[in-house]
Amino acid sequence: ETLTVQELANRMSERAVDVVRLLMKQGVMKKITDLIDADTAQLIAEELGHTVRRVAESDVEEGLFDAPDAPESLKPRPPVVTIMGHVDHGKTSLLDAIRQTNVVKGEAGGITQHIGAYQVTSPLGGKITFIDTPGHAAFTAMRARGAKSTDIVVLVVAADDGVKPQTAEAINHARAAGVPIIVAINKVDKPEAKPEKVRSELLQYEIQVESLGGETLEVEVSAKARTNLDKLLEIIQLQSEILELKANPDRPAEGTVIEAKLDRGRGPVATALVQRGTLYQGDIVVAGSEWGRVRALVTDQGDTTPEAGPSMPVEILGFNGAPEAGDRIAVVENEARAREIADYRTRQKREQAAARAVVRVSGLEQMMSQIKVAGKKEFPLVIKGDVQGSVEAIVQALEKVGNDEVGVRVLLSGAGGVTESDVILASASNAVVIGFNVRALKEARDAAERTGTEIRYYNIIYDLVDDIKAAMSGMLSPER
Ligand code: GDP
Repeated sequence: ETLTVQELANRMSERAVDVVRLLMKQGVMKKITDLIDADTAQLIAEELGHTVRRVAESDVEEGLFDAPDAPESLKPRPPVVTIMGHVDHGKTSLLDAIRQTNVVKGEAGGITQHIGAYQVTSPLGGKITFIDTPGHAAFTAMRARGAKSTDIVVLVVAADDGVKPQTAEAINHARAAGVPIIVAINKVDKPEAKPEKVRSELLQYEIQVESLGGETLEVEVSAKARTNLDKLLEIIQLQSEILELKANPDRPAEGTVIEAKLDRGRGPVATALVQRGTLYQGDIVVAGSEWGRVRALVTDQGDTTPEAGPSMPVEILGFNGAPEAGDRIAVVENEARAREIADYRTRQKREQAAARAVVRVSGLEQMMSQIKVAGKKEFPLVIKGDVQGSVEAIVQALEKVGNDEVGVRVLLSGAGGVTESDVILASASNAVVIGFNVRALKEARDAAERTGTEIRYYNIIYDLVDDIKAAMSGMLSPER
């Protein structure tokens, strides 16, 4: 275990310079940002008259997030919705239009704040929470950090343009996350709108809407003419009732950071989506490596509120620093505990960064050992190829190499170069990206570097299948 001089000082509530001075006396020259080992830390702490309790690293986060709630404590909660779709198909317009329908009538141009998410009431009376950052990048980035923040995806497809590459991407991302899709065919006010064409194009992606005899809920809308927005909200509520979304409101709050920033006047501000429990003003919260005491909670209407229950987005004021979008938030019992967790995570981040810089274990090998340990039976892959035909051939060949114990799971496959979004999708599921006769774009390579995701290139299907086979047989019989 290692920590910096500053962290040690924080934990003892001593001044860092005093620790530096004491270290110097012992013949150890350190700056406050330098790392010291656990034994040295203990020595210093005892020297300063503190009792030392060494905590196993693995104990630090114990009890956070994992304790399930008793079934009888669960109450219905509003759904959390993300709008996805191709650029210019009207995601932002739709989010704005929905928000405006809900501004209290008579309150001309009623003031709403952009805090990263907002809540509206459907005509059926239920509440619905919308994540205010459209698109799958934010969605998947959050998922990559372990946050499941979306219950329903509204897939927006412009009726004058039809299914486009990012429409397909959005479908893949929603599927990989196991989130149900509602189709909103937008821009039906346009004379050139062809909603029927959209419906039939979606069939290619295995989305069969209700009017074609399928199960996917759909609605024709116009964000511009504000047509059928109420219908969309009703359908969302309907879908959420099918999902039977529930959470226990009577427990310390847990949630996810949707957005965070450093505000000039207000200090660090984090928008949280509460996922279970109720968050109160005065609570001690940790998120990522930041913590704080909740000074105020602010709603999307700009009002302060004393508390926020499940699925409610609120701004939290009072953090010591801005956490990151996707960080999970938990209420803890006291400041000492908050500081301990925040310090632990700071150390972890640092160690992970160091580990990434030093050893680059092959993603495939790493995945195998993970699978061995966790007893996982799936081998997740993202496959991109030069032409659809070769991609299909690869997927078919790989499907055959599985057996009862392990199998390939293709999260996404398609023609085209490896994109940043492919890599982020892969990293969210610990998958390896396969590029067949294609290269990765620069942003994709950067994302791979950042997330520690492996991209492997092939130009012969046989080689690819062989590698995957070898990897899987390694998984099956480590002793041989
Ligand atoms: P985003 O990129 O998906 O967020 O799309 P935007 O919301 O920015 O919309 C792209 C363009 O389509 C803008 O010029 C909008 O005014 C226009 N637009 C969005 N919804 C509609 C609609 O229902 N009907 C028409 N005619 N135009 C729309």
